[in-house]
Amino acid sequence: MDSIATNAEAGERKAYFDAHYMTADAFPLQANPLLIETGEKRILVDTGMGPNLNWAPTAGRLAKSLDEAGVTPEAIDTIVLTHCHVDHVGGLNAAATKQFPNAEVVLSETELDLWNSPDAASKLPEWAVPGVPQLQKVLASLGDRLRPIKSGADVATGIAALDTSGHTQGHISLLVGSGDEQLLITGDAVPSIHIAFDRPEWEIIWDHDREKGAKTRRALLDRAAHDRLLVAGYHYPFPGIGHVVKEGNGFRWLPVHWVWDS
Ligand SMILES: [Zn+2]
Repeated sequence: MDSIATNAEAGERKAYFDAHYMTADAFPLQANPLLIETGEKRILVDTGMGPNLNWAPTAGRLAKSLDEAGVTPEAIDTIVLTHCHVDHVGGLNAAATKQFPNAEVVLSETELDLWNSPDAASKLPEWAVPGVPQLQKVLASLGDRLRPIKSGADVATGIAALDTSGHTQGHISLLVGSGDEQLLITGDAVPSIHIAFDRPEWEIIWDHDREKGAKTRRALLDRAAHDRLLVAGYHYPFPGIGHVVKEGNGFRWLPVHWVWDS
């Protein structure tokens, strides 16, 4: 809990956590990769934490979940990484080209340059540095399957990448259009349904640039509320789909009803 609301007064933090049933020591963090079926392509957004982590023993269900959805690893055409933190790239291992044999991997060129640079450690917060060697192995294994893009570019027809840097230098969110509808995939630009909505200005240590992260968060929430976008959040309670309502000086998360397919 020390990692969130770092710029809030101790008393105010405690009161907020108590009021929202957040315990003093830890909070649950889900990871919800999203699969987009465009009709032509299958696009996976983020890959979760990966299996066999002693600090996340219930993670690593991506392959099983895809299987249950009737999607084989061969059928994934594109994997989009909103950014390169381990809870988003952990589902790719150094044999990524075998894992998803037909997939290209899209990420922002700023993000790729950041993590792939020989002096990456000097540009990252200390806590992110231990993950660099493994990530560089994964990136190297992908070779020309990597497709770095500029923010604002289309990932695929109807899917635009938005520059939502702050959480990381090259973080992107996605805006997916389908007919008259639009879905905003926030990635970690809006990381939780609690404090990020109520107090967008409260900072978290997981943002590489905490001030910019807070500004980006508010701007994205403003846009989602104003444009009445459907929103998919990565670390929200499953399935993490809902709307954003403006409320006071902050926002409120309004989950949509789950619709059973069959
Ligand atoms: Zn994350």
